[in-house]
Amino acid sequence: MNIKERLQRIWGTLPEGVSLVAVSKFHPAERIAEAYDAGQRIFGESRPQEMAAKQAVLPTDIEWHMIGHLQTNKVKYIAPFVSMISSVDSDRLIAEIEKQAAKCDRIIDILLEVHVAQEQTKSGWSWEELNDYLLSGELQSMTHLRVRGVMTIASNTDDETIVRNDFQRIKDIFEELKPQFGEAFDTLSIGMSDDYPIALEYGSTMVRIGTAIFGAREY
Ligand SMILES: *Cc1c(COP(=O)(O)O)cnc(C)c1O
Repeated sequence: MNIKERLQRIWGTLPEGVSLVAVSKFHPAERIAEAYDAGQRIFGESRPQEMAAKQAVLPTDIEWHMIGHLQTNKVKYIAPFVSMISSVDSDRLIAEIEKQAAKCDRIIDILLEVHVAQEQTKSGWSWEELNDYLLSGELQSMTHLRVRGVMTIASNTDDETIVRNDFQRIKDIFEELKPQFGEAFDTLSIGMSDDYPIALEYGSTMVRIGTAIFGAREY
């Protein structure tokens, strides 16, 4: 199957209202252009400079989503154009996004990345840390970012029970936080190539799929 056929197959499985982030990290701009020509408009990247380089040579109506861990000193590379930063995992990063977005006179959508997986290595806030941060009230002063929801990466395991457990936990967190943020808080970003059908059962509104569209990555 080519990229277009793979995309069409995935679109066919997504319920109305669920958006697809085509994760194009490590794939060249030509492959993204192929997906774009097939009709895909949202692309996810994990490295700021790589995203900026691709953005410069591809159509301007692409929505770029940062999905990988973002160092504060690199926010400036993507602040002028990025649509959403899905991997927001610290108070320092939030403060820097606010600062850079203000410089660009923009409002940037963000997702709070929460750690629910078994592996210690996964990034994201613990529920406790996140609550402490939200209670601090710091977010209230930030007028150049909009908190749209939460994101997580489920445990990397063949044990479906564990994956389901992770998705249930993030769904509960999403529901619990919603009242604090109101209407704009509408995004539950869960599901990757291997687990997105399960994520949809748990109310995913945004899946992030790379390998199943572009094939294996060469790091
Ligand atoms: C790489 C990546 C994906 C895509 O993973 P696939 O298994 O290739 O679909 C999704 N989300 C995040 C945060 C990633 O880093």
